[in-house]
Amino acid sequence: MSEVARPSGRAQVKTTCPYCGVGCGVIATPDGLGGLTVEGEPDHPANLGRLCSKGTALGETVGLDGRILEPLLSGQPATWDTVLDLVAAKFTAAIAEHDPDSIAFYVSGQMLTEDYYVANKLIKGFIGSANIDTNSRLCMASAVAGHKRAFGKDTVPGTYEDLEQTDLIVLAGSNLARCHPVLFQRVVATKALRPALKIITIDPRRTATTDLADLHLPLAQGSDVALFNHLLTAIADSGHITSYATNHVTGLDAALTAARADDVTATGLSPHQLAQFTALWTQAEKVVSVFSQGVNQSSSGTDKVNAIINCHLATGRIGKPGMGPFSVTGQPNAMGGREVGGMANMLACHLEIENPAHRAAVQTFWNAPTMAAKLGLKAVDMFRAVADKKIKALWIICTNPAASMPEADAVRTAIAGCDFVVVSDCSATTDTAKLADVILPATTWGEKDGTVTNSDRTVSRQRAALPAPGQARHDWDILADVGRRMGWAKAFDYTSPAEIFREHAALSGIAGTLGADFDISGLVDTDYTTLQPTRWPVSDTKTGGRFFGDGQFYTPDRKAHMLPLTHRAPIAQTTEKHPFRLNTGRIRDQWHTMTRSGKSVRLSQHLAEPFLEIHPSDAARLGIHPAYLVQVSNDHGTAILRVLITDRVQPGQVFAPIHWTDEHAPSGRISALIAGQTDPVSGQPELKAAVANVAPYAADWYGFAVSVGEPLPQTPYAARARVRAGWRMELADITCPTD
Ligand code: SF4
Repeated sequence: MSEVARPSGRAQVKTTCPYCGVGCGVIATPDGLGGLTVEGEPDHPANLGRLCSKGTALGETVGLDGRILEPLLSGQPATWDTVLDLVAAKFTAAIAEHDPDSIAFYVSGQMLTEDYYVANKLIKGFIGSANIDTNSRLCMASAVAGHKRAFGKDTVPGTYEDLEQTDLIVLAGSNLARCHPVLFQRVVATKALRPALKIITIDPRRTATTDLADLHLPLAQGSDVALFNHLLTAIADSGHITSYATNHVTGLDAALTAARADDVTATGLSPHQLAQFTALWTQAEKVVSVFSQGVNQSSSGTDKVNAIINCHLATGRIGKPGMGPFSVTGQPNAMGGREVGGMANMLACHLEIENPAHRAAVQTFWNAPTMAAKLGLKAVDMFRAVADKKIKALWIICTNPAASMPEADAVRTAIAGCDFVVVSDCSATTDTAKLADVILPATTWGEKDGTVTNSDRTVSRQRAALPAPGQARHDWDILADVGRRMGWAKAFDYTSPAEIFREHAALSGIAGTLGADFDISGLVDTDYTTLQPTRWPVSDTKTGGRFFGDGQFYTPDRKAHMLPLTHRAPIAQTTEKHPFRLNTGRIRDQWHTMTRSGKSVRLSQHLAEPFLEIHPSDAARLGIHPAYLVQVSNDHGTAILRVLITDRVQPGQVFAPIHWTDEHAPSGRISALIAGQTDPVSGQPELKAAVANVAPYAADWYGFAVSVGEPLPQTPYAARARVRAGWRMELADITCPTD
């Protein structure tokens, strides 16, 4: 499709990186030929000019190869009128013949806030269902639930500056070097300037992040609660509980009693390691505890979050410079999605679905005919309902659940069997798009216009540097058009993202009067075009600093809540049949299912095949040699991966990246091996503690190919990666071709 010309503007555009939750500012300069170059924006508070490898390579990902440029109906080109009339008619029929809950939206932390706002408004206020969930459920739902239990609202108390102002950074389940690289660069620079800064990493696996650490705690998977309970007892026993806990916190005694009863030996850490940890923590005046997917992606993820927060509340180390628990989000707009209520258990602007006054306020503001009155289906349950045929019409926007959801093979089958599936995406070749009845061509980074919120509550503009190609349209525009075609013309009569932003900001002002922390009403009249990065809250009475230094929380009693917690092991247990604990995660140079980053030659050279890290002792025992292929299997699926023998993982543990799909390596779909087991509070799946068997893959032949074309041979093992003139492929099979 590269013959489609783009108009040529060459003015520099200040925008925001579309990858991780750091939210780096980017200056994009179109080249006049449809491409662009990028550099870090020196004035953006998140990155101050820095970019990581993915951000630097953004210019290599804006080409039109692989893009869908016209609507498709059953695989054939169709007009926008035809497909949107069909979508509106199918949704209307589902409501009439079944009920609003027969419709579901599965959306994405990649969407801009304005897109998210319209999606949430359409389904909750007009269709009348809360069946909207997001791939953020897989990312930070446990952080949200933990914040709400402790603080009353989903509030991130601190700021990025805290990482530079603290005495001790604890990185719990966070491979910051790989997953939030520019934030890690800020930490590296701070430690270089101030070597007294101590860093502790808590991770079963040794990573690039642990290389910077003064102390690495390779705890047993899932035992974080036991570790932080041990810390809480040490805090109490060493006299570090402060008057902040007495004055502003409830639940201290119960939390401490539960902590004393917990079993720290579950961590597998030595007494010396534990003593080092508690000494560093209690003796530091200022502590920031950064936590991410290693904490969140767990069947006890919410308890892990609260175990960390308990220690900060007990010591009053929260809401002051250099102090606090700090959730860093995986996705560029996970925070924006939370703000608009784009999840099944939220209402807009951090209001509560379960609260009748909140529902009434939002319904009145939207002048909506209805309002979802009960929680919707969270991601894992949503796709189970799809499999059970309870969902009759499914709209998937800007995400790839057929590859990324737990039990991905079963999810793929469920989507394929759904009565009516709409996919909005920039690519028609994702594992999910291939299953759709209707594919709607959406704009993507470089073309989109709106806002995103990063991990420290800074709202930044994403601005278009390139025009929308072909017939591609913005997600907010597509959603609003469907709303109008379903009969709600006035409510969805948007003509620009600025109108949506102003409406969202105005609603947040109402939410503020109802006790919400999220309030950007001060931006209602701002010039959207020139909006500078701004940390919320922004209102007449509040400006975007830290939360909770004053001891005022969003609970009914205005106090923070400590919780009594006991560690729970991961749900799946290793057995003789499945003796390995399978951990999953990201690599430095790819993003999610590679739809964008897989286009970059530079990024594709870093690690060109899906792989499995295994300890040398396990490899030797199984007769696995370096660069062998191995088969990883369990009751949910099978993968064939290139082995990487390394003591970064512990004996009995293996690690595989999440990025490969049918598009790049059909046998590398690791999410197919992840059970759909979830945290009971947050609904977040346990993505880092599966169990599996590992065995050598007895290939009879291996092949290597270089091709200018795209086809991927249908061999049991096939992995392709971009090279300058096309593709390189690695192939293997246990059966030799006979002709
Ligand atoms: Fe983009 Fe994150 Fe890298 Fe910044 S750190 S350039 S936001 S991927």
